[in-house]
Amino acid sequence: MAQQKQPPVGYDDTPMIPGSRWRVHDGKRPQPKVIEPGTASAQDAPGRPPSDAIVLFDGTDTSHWVGPDGGEIGWQVIEGALQVVPRTGSITSVDQFGDCHLHVEWAAPEVVKGSSQGRGNSGVFLMSKYEVQVLDSYDNRTYADGHTAAIYGQYPPIVNASRPPGEWQTYELFFVAPRWEGNELVSPAYITVVHNGVLVHHHQAIQGPTGHKIVASYDEPHGPVGPIMLQDHGDLVRFRNIWVRPIEGYDQ
Ligand code: MG
Repeated sequence: MAQQKQPPVGYDDTPMIPGSRWRVHDGKRPQPKVIEPGTASAQDAPGRPPSDAIVLFDGTDTSHWVGPDGGEIGWQVIEGALQVVPRTGSITSVDQFGDCHLHVEWAAPEVVKGSSQGRGNSGVFLMSKYEVQVLDSYDNRTYADGHTAAIYGQYPPIVNASRPPGEWQTYELFFVAPRWEGNELVSPAYITVVHNGVLVHHHQAIQGPTGHKIVASYDEPHGPVGPIMLQDHGDLVRFRNIWVRPIEGYDQ
């Protein structure tokens, strides 16, 4: 049977969009790539990642991660979750990423122990340099810029959207890597953070690689990509359903 002719979907006589090679409503402009969007997570089961995501942890496979010496990680997989084994060191992704959307789910230990920075502390580091804090901030005071979902040492989250310890929490991190020309910083890193579905940083410029008791600054050119790091801060924090989508941008 002959293929039915598709009706035209756009125009070829409209003005050009400034800065673009396409016209307004251009009929020849490529269609967005079709993907499957995945499903939401529940407390008792992680959701399914979007079909084009790079899955860094699916509940069993730890081969996308290395320990501090570049060898196998010291962390344990327990009931589909990747759990910190204290003093085995932070783990880093084998693959490296720059601009990306990173999805991470984590849970602080159900048995509450310690206070302030000593309760359910870990962290998600973009490019191994920019920490979005992980902490049990449910009824646990600490310095505001060290709160969970803080850009550590720089910006507290806009609100505290924490779930109780033991419950799964989600981070959606939308990260833009810093840009350099030679040794000169052209634009800083930016991050948007959604914690448990709530916006807590909106396109926030990061002041430089994060650290403890330091004023951050962009001293050393780095990138354009780097590994993702998950922190061993001595607490039994668990992670699951970790996936990333590099940000590709539009066909301009
Ligand atoms: Mg931390």
